[in-house]
Amino acid sequence: MKVHEFQAKRVLARFGVPVPRGEVAGSAPEARDAAGRLGVPGVVKAQVHAGGRGKAGGVRKAATPEAAGRAAADLLGSVLVTAQTGPAGRPVRRVLVEEAVGTARELYLALAVDPAREAVVAIASAEGGVDVEASFAGTPERVFKEYAPAGNRLDEAQARKLAAALGLTGGSATQAAGIIMAMAEAMEKTDASLVEINPLAVTGEGGLVALDVRMAFDDNALGRRPEILALRDLDEASPLEAEAARSNLSYVKLDGDIGCMVNGAGLAMATMDLILRAGGRPANFLDVGGGVTEDGVARAFRILAFDPGVRSALVNIFGGIVRCDTVASGVVRAVRETASSLPVVMRLEGTNAEEGRTVLRASGLGFHPAEGMRDAAALAVSLAGAAPARRGGRP
Ligand code: GDP
Ligand code: MN
Repeated sequence: MKVHEFQAKRVLARFGVPVPRGEVAGSAPEARDAAGRLGVPGVVKAQVHAGGRGKAGGVRKAATPEAAGRAAADLLGSVLVTAQTGPAGRPVRRVLVEEAVGTARELYLALAVDPAREAVVAIASAEGGVDVEASFAGTPERVFKEYAPAGNRLDEAQARKLAAALGLTGGSATQAAGIIMAMAEAMEKTDASLVEINPLAVTGEGGLVALDVRMAFDDNALGRRPEILALRDLDEASPLEAEAARSNLSYVKLDGDIGCMVNGAGLAMATMDLILRAGGRPANFLDVGGGVTEDGVARAFRILAFDPGVRSALVNIFGGIVRCDTVASGVVRAVRETASSLPVVMRLEGTNAEEGRTVLRASGLGFHPAEGMRDAAALAVSLAGAAPARRGGRP
């Protein structure tokens, strides 16, 4: 899960990283008043879940509160297209108004989880700012990396080594090492997968300030991090992801053609595995979890079937807390209401499985029942292969 710059800055500030004073505004008058309180010159920054804003005009300097208001009026309600948003861009719903910071140098610092090594890697470059990608590609020898010992936090000596590599000395070096340690602590305590400061500004006086912060969080850990989950901005998710999140469903989009509804992450993995072995590819996973209602199932099925790439659906439920007849009723309702012609394989096992099968038969909708998981997956794959290409229905 990604969060906005202003949210990432609040998180890092809690761990002691210096950030500019700032306020979030949703309207031009709010932005003007914020600039008045913060003092000018200020900067007005579009808040979207994508970088590259500086080069795309999403970061404006403002010499007066009125100029901050005008910059906000310009940005709010516009669609910002940056090198990272894709051609469709991102609508700007909020801006961050900050005190401007005079910078002598712009550094780059990031901590990320390296999946191959299963360790945290710290990355530092003295050439931070809006052209950092070019400097990564052009002069990789000037990008410094330190790997944390497996299962451990980056240590103080590594942080100092990176600070020295950035050419910092004295108080600046001490402060940089402290920032790196704070990033490491923040990462651990929030289950972040990425903490990036770019630029980390060195001011004329040699102080360090994080001018831009990006954070991403491990989706699987959000259950135990309610304070991070609360930062989720449903407007930034794709419409289907947002719809799923609003309905408390977990939705994973993939690029195959079989829509899958399951209950539980374990069953999702097993289902994925069986589909791949049968020569097919899942288009998505809708995990309805436990305790889902008929209504929730119906909504899940609509989301699953809306995906334009879906050519067959596989409902693979192992009833425990969730009852198979509830699932069957929900799917029947969604298929009726959307007049969907999608071939649907139903594999119901566990609590009220027989009642569920009765609901399916009684519907007269031509579901494809399956007994074992393997057969169910194979059937869904063959139906997807036989089905004509289609466009999604309305969710
Ligand atoms: P990004 O392009 O989406 O990464 O947005 P940033 O927040 O990094 O802003 C782009 C650039 O604007 C930065 O690299 C800085 O050079 C500049 N910038 C942003 N905030 C300030 C500020 O408070 N003072 C100064 N001098 N420059 C800023
Ligand atoms: Mn940046």
